[in-house]
Amino acid sequence: MRFELDQAAREHVEMLREFGRERFRPLGIERDRAGSPTPPDHPFFVEVLRSGLTRAAAQPEGGAPALGAAVMRVVSSQELAYWDRGVSSSLPGPGLGGGPVMSMGTQEQKERLLGRFRNMTEPRWAAFAMTEPGAGSDVARIQSRAVKDGDEWVLNGAKLYSANADRADWIVVFATVDPDLGRAGHRAFIVERGMPGLSDPRPEKKMGIKAYASASFTMNDLRVPAENLLGGEAHYEQRARGAGFKGAMQTFNATRPAIAANAVGMARACLDEAMAFARDAGRLGERQLDRLERMRRRTRAAWLMCLKAAWLADCGEPNMVEASMSKATAAEVAMEAASLGMELLGAVGMQGEHLIEKLYRDVKAMDIVEGTGQIQRIVMARHLVGYPRDA
Ligand SMILES: Cc1cc2nc3c(=O)[nH]c(=O)nc-3n(C[C@H](O)[C@H](O)[C@H](O)COP(=O)(O)OP(=O)(O)OC[C@H]3O[C@@H](n4cnc5c(N)ncnc54)[C@H](O)[C@@H]3O)c2cc1C
Repeated sequence: MRFELDQAAREHVEMLREFGRERFRPLGIERDRAGSPTPPDHPFFVEVLRSGLTRAAAQPEGGAPALGAAVMRVVSSQELAYWDRGVSSSLPGPGLGGGPVMSMGTQEQKERLLGRFRNMTEPRWAAFAMTEPGAGSDVARIQSRAVKDGDEWVLNGAKLYSANADRADWIVVFATVDPDLGRAGHRAFIVERGMPGLSDPRPEKKMGIKAYASASFTMNDLRVPAENLLGGEAHYEQRARGAGFKGAMQTFNATRPAIAANAVGMARACLDEAMAFARDAGRLGERQLDRLERMRRRTRAAWLMCLKAAWLADCGEPNMVEASMSKATAAEVAMEAASLGMELLGAVGMQGEHLIEKLYRDVKAMDIVEGTGQIQRIVMARHLVGYPRDA
């Protein structure tokens, strides 16, 4: 494995860095103070599309031969979250909805749903909705019901925290044909904006990463045409046990290293801000140095884990353990870095004006999203002793 970025990759990161410094950081602070997500008609999104940043962030060109798409993705994710994780999650594109469509969708669905994101001239979003009021970590407990009725499916239920669902063209919604079947009963549907029975997705109140919307919505006798069953009937018949669930989990194994990289970027931001504060305030004594050194050491170790998990993905090797390891470690490191940064600030941190205080509120989400720290540790522990994963 090689660690250096080639010229094209370095230029790519430089482009993200400049855009991040100029636009992400100020917008993230603005939305944090406003306490609401960036509105979909905000000029920032058009500017982002014109800059080519979304395309570049999704499919970075170049990279040394050893650098594949997954490694470039963690590199981009780290850099963008350094400037503002909330803003980076608000970027137009299929978002978390893209993974299940790619891994489970038919050719026709991939073209129909993802084609519109290829050369966006106006901002568009898609979303992913698994979490429910009674089912978060234990996704097997989802209660949203799917009942077949002729050529349609009828959906009923409620979803929470779906990223960008308030502005999404379509949402991948997981529902069950029979809650007693657990994961085997799951089906994934494409719910399109404006379908009768879909309530207006409403942004949740959040303590951090406020620049993007995490929205909740309900489905009341929402009728979805059969062609919007992701993968079609054949997909579920072929894999009688848990195909829908596996589709969601594949998405997470691919995205966990990128979430971990977000956390590394945020830890790095805490370190830089803490260093700057300590220098300006003349507080670079041994006690502070010890904290700063610990932040740097732990942040670098977490970064190596992200790279390893992504590199395995690029090699087409299983990366479940490494993906969980990077996610659990990086979120912990980011929370610790923010906490150490707050300690260093002392009373200044409590005034609510310093970037570290914002990061302190932002980083907690990295421990929760796409599998909490506890869940990652359970996955790794079960693997360590050879227990089946889903028992
Ligand atoms: C900012 C944000 C964005 C999100 N985006 C999305 C999205 O786009 N789409 C989507 O579908 N969902 C999304 N979610 C939801 C997220 O996936 C869930 O919050 C997460 O899965 C945890 O579920 P929960 O909040 O219900 O907590 P719970 O599952 O109720 O967990 C509560 C606590 O108990 C612990 N716990 C749970 N089970 C166990 C166990 N077996 N052993 C030990 N400890 C356990 C957890 O680690 C946690 O600390 C988002 C959440 C947030 C905060």
